[in-house]
Amino acid sequence: MLNFTVGPVMSEDYVLSIGAEQVPYFRTPEFSAIMKENESLMKEFTGADADGRVVFITGSGTASMEAAVVNLFDEKDKLLVVNGGSFGARFVKLCEIHGINFDEIHLEYGKSLTREELWQYSGKGYTGFLVNIHETSTGVKYDTDMIGEFCDKEGIFLVVDAISSFLADPLDMQKQHIDVMITGSQKALACPPGVSVIVLSSAAVKRVYDHDPKCMYLDLQDALTNGERGQTPFTPAVGVLRQIHARLCSIKEAGGVETEINRISGLAKDFRERIKELPFEICSDSLSNAVTPIHPTTVSAYDIFTVLKDEYGIWICPNGGDLKDKIFRVGHIGALTTDDNKTLTDAFKKLQERKII
Ligand SMILES: *Cc1c(COP(=O)(O)O)cnc(C)c1O
Repeated sequence: MLNFTVGPVMSEDYVLSIGAEQVPYFRTPEFSAIMKENESLMKEFTGADADGRVVFITGSGTASMEAAVVNLFDEKDKLLVVNGGSFGARFVKLCEIHGINFDEIHLEYGKSLTREELWQYSGKGYTGFLVNIHETSTGVKYDTDMIGEFCDKEGIFLVVDAISSFLADPLDMQKQHIDVMITGSQKALACPPGVSVIVLSSAAVKRVYDHDPKCMYLDLQDALTNGERGQTPFTPAVGVLRQIHARLCSIKEAGGVETEINRISGLAKDFRERIKELPFEICSDSLSNAVTPIHPTTVSAYDIFTVLKDEYGIWICPNGGDLKDKIFRVGHIGALTTDDNKTLTDAFKKLQERKII
């Protein structure tokens, strides 16, 4: 199997081999030490401030999106939510379910948020901002510097879902005025799904303690307090956390977060170069290094996904809903190489020879 989806993605062998081991008991100093190191590496890789903290939630990325919304905001808040696709729509739904006031910036698919659009919301009393910095469903990356500048000027608390962007695109919580950033184990961390990560600035930690918990499993006060001793309130996905540990340490040894971002951006550039002669349009006005969204001009996007999966053992990422026939996505996260890019583009060329595309 060769997997170019946007998650779960391919893992390195050292990550896979941990998955084959017995899962150890976790209320031990040894596991606490692993968790402490996970926390400090996550802070280092996201540019969190010295008193910032990290919470590891057992649950996919959406669990951490929900934890952020429930623990940081209440009915007194007024949020601004960027909705440019299915992940933006998820933040909208979370606000609705939890009774939090919000306005939505609705964007057309493939379109980024402009400065003019954003500044129309200036001076309107917003207290929080929710954005999926890379809207993975359409492959559009928003301008984090611009959003951070806006929130800083307006005194708005900024929550960034960087689930598919962390390790693929540059991000610096302090420089970009990000109060909370969220990621997940199965994207560029390239581990199995099951764990998501919330990095909180010191201001965000304070905000969590200023709000009464409204939910038991996702109570961040409880998670932060337990985390002080390297533990979690409930049994976490111990095996995945050990895999995340190996992965974070390996990134650190290889030169740190910038080296990893350069590796992924190199793969993205290589792929985008290789598809130039194919009947494909890249359909995003602002790309992340994590994903290339492609509109095939001659055939249904979903048919290409099916043929590659069934006849070539290669998985690209299909889209759902209205975009099913319009676009597919090719991920550049996970244990992929430029040789893998060649395998995929050779398969596309075969489909062209076969007059399928
Ligand atoms: C993958 C992803 C999520 C999380 O989805 P889960 O299925 O809950 O892991 C959230 N936001 C974005 C932008 C993502 O790419």
